[in-house]
This record gives sequence, structure tokens and C-alpha cells, in this order.
Amino acid sequence: MSNESTTQEQEQNGDAERTSEQLVELAKRRGYFFQSSGAYGGVGGFYTFGPQGASLKSNVEDAWRDRFALEEGNMEIDAPTIMPEPVFEASGHLEGFDDMLVECSECGESHRADHIVEDNTDFEDAESLPIPEVEEVIAEHELVCPSCGAGLAGEAVEAFNLMFATNIGPGDSQPGYLRPETAQGIFVEFPRLKEYARNTLPFGVTQIGRAYRNEISPRRSIIRTREFTQAELEYFIDPEEDEPDLSAVEDVGVRLYPVTEQNAEDGNEIETTIGDAVAKGVITDPWVAYFLGIAQEWYDSIGVDMDRFRFRQHLSGERAHYASDCWDAESEIDRNWIEIAGFAHRGDYDLSKHAEHSGDRFTIFKQYDEPKTVERATVDPDMSYLGPEFGGDAQAVVEELEALAGRDRSAFDDEPVEIELEGESHEIPVEKTGFAVEEQTEAGEHVVPNVIEPSFGVDRVVYTVLHHAYREDEVAGEERTYLELEPEVAPTFAGVFPLQNDDELEAQADDIASELREAGLSATYDDSGNIGRRYRRQDEVGTPFCVTVDYETIENEETTVTVRERDSTDQKRLPVDGLAETLVALREGNVAFSELEGE
Ligand code: AMP
Repeated sequence: MSNESTTQEQEQNGDAERTSEQLVELAKRRGYFFQSSGAYGGVGGFYTFGPQGASLKSNVEDAWRDRFALEEGNMEIDAPTIMPEPVFEASGHLEGFDDMLVECSECGESHRADHIVEDNTDFEDAESLPIPEVEEVIAEHELVCPSCGAGLAGEAVEAFNLMFATNIGPGDSQPGYLRPETAQGIFVEFPRLKEYARNTLPFGVTQIGRAYRNEISPRRSIIRTREFTQAELEYFIDPEEDEPDLSAVEDVGVRLYPVTEQNAEDGNEIETTIGDAVAKGVITDPWVAYFLGIAQEWYDSIGVDMDRFRFRQHLSGERAHYASDCWDAESEIDRNWIEIAGFAHRGDYDLSKHAEHSGDRFTIFKQYDEPKTVERATVDPDMSYLGPEFGGDAQAVVEELEALAGRDRSAFDDEPVEIELEGESHEIPVEKTGFAVEEQTEAGEHVVPNVIEPSFGVDRVVYTVLHHAYREDEVAGEERTYLELEPEVAPTFAGVFPLQNDDELEAQADDIASELREAGLSATYDDSGNIGRRYRRQDEVGTPFCVTVDYETIENEETTVTVRERDSTDQKRLPVDGLAETLVALREGNVAFSELEGE
């Protein structure tokens, strides 16, 4: 969004910010989410989902599971959240999972240095700048501490590792870390997971679970926390053979913000289809395109406002060196775009790293259609010569000779053969190497799969869904707040009320609530306060329908109830007989409330 804003935009801006304020207040009041450990003063970056929030979150997770695991035919796993240090040595997190920290010497507050730069200068991607340059920008622009206003020029910027460290077992001999992403739990188990996939590519493995990042400055309620939930898919492909079924998503309309447009003076988002974007090379990798298409439809189905949603391509500085194409799903919150998911082609980086560090096999054996005859250069060194000659280094010499035979067989044309060991050159007579070129028949080869990773932040989806559903209107001269949640994810589908405190009405309403639950609908019974207040309460938590039992229900021959639709507030009298089926049809979207017959 532009930094310059017109008066009208500023007014909208004010409204937008108010939405977040109102939403966070509503979330606390109605049990969506609130800061944890409040009795002890609370601690930044940890949130508890209350009864409504836990239900909304689990509905979002179920919807994700349905689409990305079940419908796609992928496997789901559930790995531990603590993993030993070697895992993160291999993955690169120990070395480089850092954010830039600057501490204010005046007030002692810690801040993300790159965020301070981005918020106060024209730099859009300060995270990719080297630390000394960030220090220079802070000094040159005379940037100040966001908490106390003291100048930050001259303060050191440091790389701060975001992983939470712990010790496994007593003592400190086995360090471990709380996983900063769920993905590693999938990668490290690849040697076993490939067996479950019958050693056949492509296949996908999903995981929904907690991730932990010791964020320097957690902010904006559940948008940036220190413990959050991810839903990740690691899709393993044969880079030479596997192609996605693009026909399934080619007509899906998307709003893209590619690098070219981000870099152009007057660049804009482009409205296109997945098919067109691939044909024109806007999205370069077809697998990434495939998952963007699926994600677009999924976000739409759970109630993300598609006018406030886009895919933005990573600028070259944002992209990990091994990733060939990367896009973020972004939603608009308070007139800012926030990243809610990342889609990356990660090449063979993860599996190769774990193979290198663990020594296990992170490959798939690919059978050829016909066995192939190939020439292989081999060595069979004479140990009775190498032993006395090289002593303890003899095994290293054998390994070097094997590697040399695979790499450059012409090296064995020379007499003697020259090898290098720890920077020193050694000579070995050719006849002592046992060098030979043999014909071998091979049935296949070991390939390292490539990985396509769609990685979703569940908490940010929950926040987006709530923010995009937030509405204020006026009903019968009274202001009303309601959440226009999709029935699929709404925590409660129906509120059931007796009109008044009356044993007969209460018993009837209780029976109806039970029947609805038996039909698989989440129903809540409420008899407190007047009926108007009960409607408001359900509107505020986003319950799509309310059912009221009144005297007509028990007095008339045909038992009927009043059903009220949340968004329109329209009411209809419907028979109790078949009510559960009607509500299920409304939930599934097989019928609209306005189409129902009833007074
Ligand atoms: P990343 O591995 O950084 O690309 O993160 C993947 C997804 O996890 C992001 O798109 C976010 O939706 C989510 N995420 C990352 N960091 C946080 C955080 N501190 N709090 C909440 N969600 C996060």
C-alpha cells in the first residue's frame, strides 16, 4: 500500500485500525483469543485461544487437512516439537536462523532493526541488507527507538538466533531446540516416509503443529507470536519427470504482485489466471503455480476476502539461495499486507543436507524402463602397500582414490597417480590402485527428490478470517457488531433459545439443541437475558443461525420454530420436523436461507 494517503484513505485507515482494536477487544470478551498467563502479568508473544477461538482454529485446521492432505492424497504425520541439535546443524537453523536485534541503551527495549528501517525509510527489504549497512542506515536517517524516542545511531545491531534452546535429559550433554518450523520433522523422517509411499515419487507429507520462535518483538496480537501453529506440506518430486496437473487450476483467478511490478516505478498487482501466469512466465515453476491455485480456492472457501488477498513474489534478497521460485500469500489487515503463507521450490537442499550430516539415505531408487549398461571406473587399492606407506591415513587415501575414479578417470592415465590429502599432494603407483573400468548393468539410479513447500501460518489465517468477517451495522435503530464467518469454520453453527423462562419451552429447546448436535452441527443452548441480547451475543461470535422456541411452537398442531439468519437478520418459521436436515443443507450451501419456504 502506498505510503502517501489521501484524506479519504486516512479516514479509511482510521476505520481499519479501529477494526483491529475492536476485534482484539471482541476476541477477548467473547473467548476467541487473549494474552496468556494474565494472572502473572502476561508475557509477550503467547496467546491462548478461548472456547470460540479453539473451535474456529480447529475448524480451519480441519478444512486445511481436508484440502491439502485428504483431497490431494497426501500423508499426514505428527512429529515431536523438540529435536536434537544435529537436526538444526544440518538444516542451517543453528547457523543462520537470525533476526537483526538492536537494543535501546536508554530504555532497554529490544527491537527488530530491519523493521525500524523499513517502517521509517524507503527500504522495503531491510532483512536482506548486511548488518553494517543497517547500522549505517540507522545512523544516517537518525532513526529512533520506537518505545522511548531515543536516538539509535551508534547502537550495535546483532544477529539474534530465534530458536528456543533446551537440554534433553539431565545435564547439558544433549542440547535440543524447540522446532522453529514443522518442516524438519518431515525431512528427517524421509528415509522411512519414502517406504510408506512405496518408494514412488511424487508424494506429499503434511503436518499441522506448533512451531516456536523467540521473536525479538512479538506484535499485533496473534499475528507475530513466539509459539504458533503451522500447517505445512512437503511435496517430493522427481525434478526430471514429475509435472503437476495444471488443468485442475488453470482457470483459477489470482491477483499477483511479481518482482517486476514491485521493482517498477509505477508497478501494480496483476489480475490473471494460474494458466496465463504460467504461460507468460510470471510464475516460473509449475508446481508452485499448482499450489498457489489450490491455496487461492481454499482461502476463498474459508472466508478470506479475495479483494484483500494477493500472492507476492519474493524479491531476490528475500529468497533463500537454494529456492528457485518463492511466493507469499498476503492478506490485508489494517491497510497493511501481512504474510500468511509461503510457497517455495526448495530444490534438493533439505534432503541433501540431512544426507550429508546423518549419513542416512535421503534418495529414492528410480527404476529404469530397461536396465542400462554403463561403464564404471573402480579402484581396489593394494592395502599391503598403502598401510605401511600411509599408516593411519590409509583409509582416507582409499576414499580419495574412489572419489577420483568417479570424478576423473583420466587421472589414472598418469604414472604415478597424484592425490591430495588435507592440502598435501601424494603419489601412488597406478598398479597399487587396482584401477579398472568395468561394464555394469544397472536397473535404476538413486535420485534426490526436489521439494515444493507450501507453508501456512494457522494463527494468521484465523486472524485474517476474523478481521475480514468483522461487520458493524444497524438493526432496528440499534448498532450491531457481527462476524460474517463462513458456516464451515464458524465455532457455533446454531444458537437455540427458549423465548422465555418456561419449563416447557426450555425442554423443547434443549431437545432441539440435542437433535442438531446429533446431526453433526455445533449448537449452543442459551436462556440468559432477553432474546435481543441473545441474538447480539451470537452475532458477535459469528453464529450463522439462531433457532427460537416460543409458545406457537408448543401450542400449534405443527411444531414450528423461528429461525433467524445472522447476516440479513431475516426470520422464518420452519417445522421442527426436518429442521436438522434443513440446517445441514444450509451449512453445506445446498440451499440459501432466502429460498426456504416458511412464513
Ligand atoms: P516462514 O517459515 O517464516 O516462511 O513462516 C511460515 C508461515 O508461518 C508464515 O507465512 C506465517 O504465516 C507463519 N509465521 C511465521 N512466523 C510467525 C510468528 N512469529 N507468529 C505467527 N505466525 C508466524
